[in-house]
Amino acid sequence: MTKAAFAFDNSYARDLDGLYVPWQGDQVPAPQFLKLNTGLVEALGLDPAAMTPEILSGAKAPEGASPLAMAYAGHQFGGFSPQLGDGRALLVGEILDPQGARWDIHLKGSGKTPFSRGGDGKALVGPVLCEYLMGEAMHALGVPTTRALAAVGTGQDVMRERPEAGAVLARVASSHLRVGTFQFFAARGEVDRLRQLADYAIARHDPDLIASPDKYLRFLEAVCDRQAALIAQWVTLGFVHGVMNTDNMTISGETIDYGPCAFVDIYDPVAKFSSIDKQGRYALGNQPAIGGWNLARLAESLLDLINPDDSDDAIRQATDVINGYQASYDAAWLGRMRAKLGLVTAQDGDQSLAEDLLTTMQGEQVDYTNLFVALAGVTHGDTSSARALFVNPTAFDVWADRYNARLDQEPDLAASRDRMRAANPVYIPRNHLVEEALSAASTGDLSPFDGLLERVTNPYSVAQSADRYAQPAPSGFGNYVTYCGT
Ligand code: AMP
Ligand code: MG
Repeated sequence: MTKAAFAFDNSYARDLDGLYVPWQGDQVPAPQFLKLNTGLVEALGLDPAAMTPEILSGAKAPEGASPLAMAYAGHQFGGFSPQLGDGRALLVGEILDPQGARWDIHLKGSGKTPFSRGGDGKALVGPVLCEYLMGEAMHALGVPTTRALAAVGTGQDVMRERPEAGAVLARVASSHLRVGTFQFFAARGEVDRLRQLADYAIARHDPDLIASPDKYLRFLEAVCDRQAALIAQWVTLGFVHGVMNTDNMTISGETIDYGPCAFVDIYDPVAKFSSIDKQGRYALGNQPAIGGWNLARLAESLLDLINPDDSDDAIRQATDVINGYQASYDAAWLGRMRAKLGLVTAQDGDQSLAEDLLTTMQGEQVDYTNLFVALAGVTHGDTSSARALFVNPTAFDVWADRYNARLDQEPDLAASRDRMRAANPVYIPRNHLVEEALSAASTGDLSPFDGLLERVTNPYSVAQSADRYAQPAPSGFGNYVTYCGT
């Protein structure tokens, strides 16, 4: 007897009736792997021989699957949509890995569903490969994220402005519960269903809270802490998510839905790349505040559970938790910046030291990623590599004196150096390289994609001298604009 491809244990389908529609993926003419993430297949304890493009495109439901489209709502650019849902995605099922951790196997681009709202349910090769690359890069950077299991070309053109090659992304996440999933039931006033969902989420992500007398409030706090930590990682890496709608914010604290995202070359709080984010709502430096705004929407959704009998009391308790988010973010940010600066100890002036460096490098348009890599030299007396990145180093020199004095307070400079190496990537998915890789992929040449993937999945390795993958965009590259990858 052949082994089943997946040993499914579908808790969502079992426990959350009313929050989904059972559904099947579309047939596609010629499913073929563009990429199969063999490392992840192995880590999840899946059988490589059973990973077929038919299954991972959704054209064929594997044995034991109960594929479904999830319902959710969400605020998109501030406006509420009571019904979004998986309009081109399916939850195939959940598996337990060899360590017993639960993972969703999910498809994006697998065809229309009852939630498609006029969309075609499809995805394109470029955005699918982009999400593959970004998720794997973020994972290697130590950022919680959904991960790509496979990118499957469908052999079918998808109509956008012109016909383009279609693809499906198979991805893995610790769940696909979103802030918007809670908003869906809260907006309908379905409190029993909402409680069922919250209990499910707590069992899945915060089992320590199951017996807590104020578990819904503590759950809100746990989500706030995870998001604070996540967004601090984004900001300190120079990552702009680009579309932080509440339906794109997870309960697990994983980054989800890489669309118009990008990394900055030059640190700038107003940096944004998405063609549709006209106001900069989701700009680099606005992400912490928008995270807080989204979490306030989660808090509102949970009020009926926090105190069913006294809404004023529920609001007061939830507000206290939401107010704590900013402090949680600030602490996470400072922790990340200390690591980037090799500060193992904590001192009062560390925050202004970090902020002043950001201002200095922004003023001189210095490459963010490379400056932090070069700063490690200061721990063994070499300030020149960092200084060389400045056309006019006057302000940097002043800052570097402060930094040197601060490093003198560190007990062990070898430990500082190690900390910096582990916190400052050499390789990030730079926009010009992503564009180059995706443009070659659109002509069927995946070698630039593979070259870039190799670097960004080993982000902390020492760069070869003059490695083009570690260089900023050439000056002619101009302002990078991402188009909501659909
Ligand atoms: P996103 O902003 O990509 O996270 O998507 C927001 C909503 O639009 C979700 O409900 C998606 O399922 C839906 N959606 C995006 N693209 C499509 C498409 N091509 N067809 C159907 N629904 C889509
Ligand atoms: Mg989304």
